[in-house]
Amino acid sequence: MPVRHIERAQAPAERDPATPAVLTLSEVTKTYPGTQPVHALAGVSLTVRRGELVAVAGPSGSGKSTMLNMMGALDRPSSGEVTVEGSALRGLPDRRISAMRGRRIGFVFQQFHLIAGLDALDNVATGLLYQAVPIAERRRLAAHMLEHVGLAGRSGHRPAELSGGERQRVAIARALVGNPAILLADEPTGNLDSRTAAEIISLLRDLNVAGSTIVVIMHDRDLAASLPRTVSLLDGRVDHDTAATG
Ligand code: ADP
Ligand code: MG
Repeated sequence: MPVRHIERAQAPAERDPATPAVLTLSEVTKTYPGTQPVHALAGVSLTVRRGELVAVAGPSGSGKSTMLNMMGALDRPSSGEVTVEGSALRGLPDRRISAMRGRRIGFVFQQFHLIAGLDALDNVATGLLYQAVPIAERRRLAAHMLEHVGLAGRSGHRPAELSGGERQRVAIARALVGNPAILLADEPTGNLDSRTAAEIISLLRDLNVAGSTIVVIMHDRDLAASLPRTVSLLDGRVDHDTAATG
């Protein structure tokens, strides 16, 4: 009898329901109050599992930044639930949420937000301020992380002495030096030319392969589509999620 091969689309391990969820949004809404309230998120449910690299795409105003702010506990939802590493954030005091954010979540923004008066090494070392690590150890870990993002030769340079792509590498190193559960990046390539943008996305890919869980908002649809999973937002809702069935 001939052996019948059954072709089965194999889900990557990181999408396997057995892989721990790092972050979950359940029916999250966000309304910004005002004379004309803005319903920025209209009910978003999403699970990010350990080891994933998720691109978030969508037109300007679709709620991408609002969603990332909910994921990173920078703001509280109007309704719905955000869970980080199994802990529901609702009901936690701000002090606890700040501590969780400082230790478990790394942020990267379009504008880099580096400290102008500090060199690259000390900018990265500030990523460890929440971890109660002595300064010498902070610098040692920062040097290691700078090397990891390909900037070993720039540790003594201040932000003004670095290119846009280099500044973003420093910001990524700062976000990751404390070994967070997840890296959240809001249009990290928004201020970069297309070649440098592609290099930064390539770095995020490498960091993901090395173990980092990453959610990255990006404008460039083609670049977004090149990542393992893409979530598209439209009018505050998930319009499409390539991790969904089908
Ligand atoms: P995106 O990042 O996809 O461009 P945002 O999440 O920044 O979208 O914004 C979604 C909607 O919420 C937009 O209509 C925006 O104008 C509105 N919005 C964002 N932040 C605020 C705020 N702090 N107050 C009022 N409205 C806001
Ligand atoms: Mg935005």
